[in-house]
Amino acid sequence: MEGTLFVHNSLSRKKEAFQAINPPHVGMYVCGPTVYGDAHLGHARPAITFDLVFRYLSHLGYKVRYVRNITDVGHLENDADEGEDKIGKKARLEKLEPMEIVQYFSDRYHFNMDQLNVKKPSIEPRASGHIIEQIEMVKKILDSGYAYESKGSVYFDVEKYHQDTKKYGELSGRVLDDLKSNTRELEGQDEKQNAFDFAIWKNAAPEHIMRWPSPWGDGFPGWHMECSAMSTKYLGEKFDIHGGGMDLLFPHHESEIAQSRAANGDDPAKYWMHNNMITINGQKMGKSLGNFITLNQFFDGSHDFLERAYSPMTIRFFILQAHYRSTVDFSNEALQAAEKGFKRLMNALQLLEKLPVSKETTVDFKSLEKKSYEALNDDFNSPVAIAHLFDAARMINAINDGKEKITQEDLNGLKKYFSTFVMDILGFKSEEDNSGNDELLSSVISHLLEVRQEAKKNKDFNTADKIRDALTASGIVIKDTKEGAEWSVKS
Ligand code: ZN
Repeated sequence: MEGTLFVHNSLSRKKEAFQAINPPHVGMYVCGPTVYGDAHLGHARPAITFDLVFRYLSHLGYKVRYVRNITDVGHLENDADEGEDKIGKKARLEKLEPMEIVQYFSDRYHFNMDQLNVKKPSIEPRASGHIIEQIEMVKKILDSGYAYESKGSVYFDVEKYHQDTKKYGELSGRVLDDLKSNTRELEGQDEKQNAFDFAIWKNAAPEHIMRWPSPWGDGFPGWHMECSAMSTKYLGEKFDIHGGGMDLLFPHHESEIAQSRAANGDDPAKYWMHNNMITINGQKMGKSLGNFITLNQFFDGSHDFLERAYSPMTIRFFILQAHYRSTVDFSNEALQAAEKGFKRLMNALQLLEKLPVSKETTVDFKSLEKKSYEALNDDFNSPVAIAHLFDAARMINAINDGKEKITQEDLNGLKKYFSTFVMDILGFKSEEDNSGNDELLSSVISHLLEVRQEAKKNKDFNTADKIRDALTASGIVIKDTKEGAEWSVKS
């Protein structure tokens, strides 16, 4: 049924048949957030993209070890070797410990990811917890001759690496000669031999808060170093998939490849996958453009750009309705269309529970199931899979209206197909569950309390106590008042 999975590899720029290095195990590393502010769409897209990859590979029977890091040190303001550490700066402005900033925004990131129904990775390592591994890898690169020490910092020698391997720019398509001519004039950095060399260890100025001792003096690791060190630690020198947003192709991932080749002699990952960017009304997202919308603002509608609030599942649907390698443009109209699309799937899911069954089947859901697998096997083509699910939803409606028929056995098959794709693989969840359950819950509890009241009246204290104990065990607190029993959910 499932067929062969094809994955677009950013390194070869081709779709390749996916073959795990060590099946059924799959190692996947995805660059996570730098936690100095609230998560926005630029965080939601890679999280949801690789959540789909994680879910689908798991569904196919792979045992996926999914590592997604948290960057809590070393990411400087301009994404290169200059400027203040993003977290250090926020800590200074807020007069907090850097780790207070990290904890606060990590918690908020996790909360948003739960709202989006993004599964937790298997391991979520932090850069600051892996300083020793990073120092060890810097030493290996120095030993291999592809780095040099300068004034307490260690720089990667891009020119020497490229001379020997001809690999620099292989992933991003950057040409070293162009970089040379573009950067030579701008630099006043006498620490570096070449302006395009990048720090793998940075000397910490006296005012720098986050610092660790190293063979080269007190300092902190370069941003690219953490992902190389942590992916090697948890997934080995060569693992299956490395993912992230397209903005990370250069310099981050290009540098990761260079570091791994220099330290371990090989590319770290077999397949490189990159999700495309998000624009808002056709414009790039950016703080200076005033269209920088956090996920929390989407969920409560508090940004000027938004006509109203949009639920986490609407955002998830919108992101999955585009292929991960296409750009996505957010607008109110597009979000409202996504909301309708999501509701269509949810309505069909509900209808499935009460469809009439017949002695014969007049629908062909099996071909839709097959096509849905073919879509996801084609480089995780979620928009095409969703289109087939819409066809299935139409089928479900037709059965409900009596225009089509289905046997009990086929209905079981249709239910399994539809709910597996909608819930397990695409990761949608009903957003009405809670409100519906709340109503149901209060009605059930009220009935039980009436029975208990009745029992007490009849001096059947045994039954009355049993009801109270059962409710207490379920986390319901009962308070007897003159007006009768009151209840609340234990917080
Ligand atoms: Zn990374």
